[in-house]
Amino acid sequence: MSDLVLVLNCGSSSIKYQLLHADSAEVLASGLVEKIGEAHGGRIVHECGDRKLVHEGAIADHRAGLRQAFEMFRETGIDLTTIGVSAVGHRVVHGGEVFWQPTLITDEVVRTIDELSVLAPLHNPANVIGIESTRELLPDIPEVAVFDTAFFHAMPEAARTYAIDAKLAAAHGVRKYGFHGTSHHYVSERAAQFLGKPVSDLDQIVFHLGNGASASAIAGGVAVDTTMGMTPLEGLVMGTRPGDLDPGIMPQLMNAAGLDLAAVEQLLNRESGIKGLSGVNDFRELQQLIDNGDAAAKLAYDVYIHRLRRYLGAYLVELGRVDTIVFTAGVGENSPAVRADALAGLSGFGIEIDPDRNATRTPGVRVISPDTAPVAVLVVPTNEELAIARAAHRLVGAG
Ligand code: AMP
Repeated sequence: MSDLVLVLNCGSSSIKYQLLHADSAEVLASGLVEKIGEAHGGRIVHECGDRKLVHEGAIADHRAGLRQAFEMFRETGIDLTTIGVSAVGHRVVHGGEVFWQPTLITDEVVRTIDELSVLAPLHNPANVIGIESTRELLPDIPEVAVFDTAFFHAMPEAARTYAIDAKLAAAHGVRKYGFHGTSHHYVSERAAQFLGKPVSDLDQIVFHLGNGASASAIAGGVAVDTTMGMTPLEGLVMGTRPGDLDPGIMPQLMNAAGLDLAAVEQLLNRESGIKGLSGVNDFRELQQLIDNGDAAAKLAYDVYIHRLRRYLGAYLVELGRVDTIVFTAGVGENSPAVRADALAGLSGFGIEIDPDRNATRTPGVRVISPDTAPVAVLVVPTNEELAIARAAHRLVGAG
């Protein structure tokens, strides 16, 4: 059986895709469809080997975007209906209490993912549209859903329970689910592989620091806590999301500043975090502002680091010990300053960073702690597409 998998990550107005070999990780083609459903700015960038095709023009909906992307595959010599794609793997944000394994998509599964939209109104509806569109365009290829929440399904009850009215919480699915699970799972296994140890022998703390950011505590390969909650708003400070907030702030603001529910959603999802404090959400721009002496940017950075360290401390205690600390995603992989500041002054806990190793950029997994330090600090590039492709291929191959 071919190991080619088409991986799709559908957002509300965008689709990221990749066609890759699950075994070798070789990527044949990848692309990004942007501004779906908007009057202006619709754009598809498709890359295949050294060819880059760009389509500009309004994209009515996800199906139209995918149809156009499939046409661009054809222009670069790939017919997805005949090349031997073994599976389509979909990143699905919320699996609720129902899905914690990669799942073969059926009508019933699509219906359930759609019902779970009450828990992820910004994400699951787009995932459903993406699944339905591919089922129409590639009807003969099995599809697999891989859930962002899955890795955290076994968190202990004490870690996943919010201290509010228990009946109300149960009626509305209010509990911590966690997100970015595919990434936390993938990098924790890569870290173990790199160290030549079974993942079951390692206690790990993982920092996935991208535009969205989350940390997790992983005991012997099993996630026991994570910073994101019922929604991806909780926990660490992010590009445009605040992370932890006193819940009393929102009703206060609704009263005092006259914010309605839509304004609160906008504030929490798009105008908080690094952006709320500094005006920019991109970490490279933030660092530029700090270098230029911008005090607001420096405060944003300090708040970001303070939150990271707070969770590092919490997870050290939850695990009782730690073997590896892993940094991944855009900021985690690329910012030596964040890694150094997050772990500064912790040699008493066996946590140290070697400044030269931290500053030296090499591809792949690398250690940035000294060989003599008890805790291995690693930079592990994440690859959610590959993890989804492998999960989808395994499931279809086993069927
Ligand atoms: P992601 O969501 O994983 O794509 O990460 C996006 C974030 O990574 C953005 O805030 C980028 O500014 C940040 N990032 C990417 N490259 C670098 C870099 N070389 N140094 C610092 N931050 C970076």
